[in-house]
Amino acid sequence: VSLSGLAAMTDRWRPSEAPHAPRKIYGAGELGTAIANGELTNYYQPKVDVASGDVVGVETLVRWRHPADGLVLPDQFIGTAEDDGLIDELTLVVLTGALAQATAWRQAGLNLRVAVNLSMDSFSSVAFADFVAGAVAAAGVVPQDIILEVAESRLMLDQRAPLEVLTRLRMKRFRLSIDDFGTGHSSLSQLRDFPFDELKIDRSFVHGASRDKTLRAIYATSLGLGKLLGMEVVAEGVEDRDDWDLVRDTGCALAQGYFIARPMPAADLAGWIPTWRQRVREFADDVS
Ligand code: C2E
Ligand code: MG
Ligand code: MG
Ligand code: MG
Repeated sequence: VSLSGLAAMTDRWRPSEAPHAPRKIYGAGELGTAIANGELTNYYQPKVDVASGDVVGVETLVRWRHPADGLVLPDQFIGTAEDDGLIDELTLVVLTGALAQATAWRQAGLNLRVAVNLSMDSFSSVAFADFVAGAVAAAGVVPQDIILEVAESRLMLDQRAPLEVLTRLRMKRFRLSIDDFGTGHSSLSQLRDFPFDELKIDRSFVHGASRDKTLRAIYATSLGLGKLLGMEVVAEGVEDRDDWDLVRDTGCALAQGYFIARPMPAADLAGWIPTWRQRVREFADDVS
């Protein structure tokens, strides 16, 4: 049984979520216009060192400021971008914005590693690695400060092109991250086939794991595996104090999630950091 198989079993034991209206999926015409009009914008979600509370980086998450519909989330348009040949254009917009922001933060004295999500659909062309490296070099940012996240559920390392793109990115010294770990059908072979720098345990194995034996087993095993392989492990989906205590008590290096901060506009980050530092001091007082 695969990790995702175990998770599916666990899901069946949970009360089902309240049904919500299906959200609109946007078409290629509208999305193409939005990209051209500059309606896409980046939000950033902090990633923190669990032991110290230090903010070590941010993950870039694209949003669409739709003139009529408001802020639209990526799952309503990334699929369209992938299916209709707009994904490389979208990636370039997101990456360019993230690089400019990384430079601005650095100039303001904030040293943050900036992560960008890449779509598997971009990995069919080997030229993609040069395209990414070119954009990063043009921005004057060093690849070591950029983390490229690839969703594990969509990785196809049994194919030549994706493996070659990853290998090229690694040779150019980008940091490579396996995202949503445990949700794919071949999680373990992905680790065998490519040396990622970072492993992000999917939020479905993190949130609520302190209260659920099965989740906790999958979480702990993923964490141990990442550590044994010398990877930096990130717990995604830290949503409440119980999740935070679990990742801290089990020695997971890094964490992300709503408990720490929701994704936010770049301008909000500097103001958020002191409020987070204050909370970390309060957690320390709770323990002693
Ligand atoms: P992801 O890369 O796994 O990003 C994490 C997602 O989980 C984000 O959703 C984030 O807002 C959400 N999240 C963070 N903390 C928590 C938490 O504590 N609880 C819960 N329930 N959710 C949390 P978002 O921004 O809607 O993005 C969804 C997915 O869309 C991303 O998943 C990523 O796969 C994709 N995506 C986002 N931006 C881009 C992009 O620029 N390019 C590509 N190719 N994909 C993107
Ligand atoms: Mg990600
Ligand atoms: Mg993820
Ligand atoms: Mg995810």
